[in-house]
Amino acid sequence: MSDCIFCMIANKEVASDIVYEDDNILAFRDNAPQAPEHVLIIPKKHIASLDDVSEEDSQVLSHIMLKVKDIASDLGMEGGYRLVNNCGEDGQQTVKHLHFHLLGKRKMTWPPG
Ligand code: 5GP
Ligand code: ZN
Repeated sequence: MSDCIFCMIANKEVASDIVYEDDNILAFRDNAPQAPEHVLIIPKKHIASLDDVSEEDSQVLSHIMLKVKDIASDLGMEGGYRLVNNCGEDGQQTVKHLHFHLLGKRKMTWPPG
C-alpha cells in the first residue's frame, strides 16, 4: 500500500532502526519508545490489522511468534518482555498495518491503560 508508513518502512522508502529482517518480516525500533527497548514487528505484506488476517497469513503470523524470543534475546531482554497488539478503534491502533509491539528492559505494570 503506497500510503502506508509501515509498507514504506518495509520497502526502505522511509528509514528505520532495523533490529531484525528476513524475507517476510521486519522488526524496527519504535520512534516513540515506551520502554528502554521498544520494537515493532511487522509482516512485510500489508495486512491492516489482526481483524484482517486470513488463513493464508497463518505462516507469517506463526513466523513472527516464533521469532519473538530470538529478537528479545538479541536485545538483551533476559528478564522478560511484553508483546502487545492494538487492534481497531477501542484497541487504540493508530497505524493500520499489523504490528506487534515488543517492549522490554523495564518492569511492566498491569493493567495497561
Ligand atoms: P499503534 O498505536 O498503532 O499500536 O502503534 C503504532 C506505533 O508506531 C506507535 O508506537 C508509534 O510510535 C509508531 N510509529 C508511528 N510512525 C512511525 C514511524 O514512522 N517510524 C517508527 N519507527 N515508528 C512509528
Ligand atoms: Zn502497510
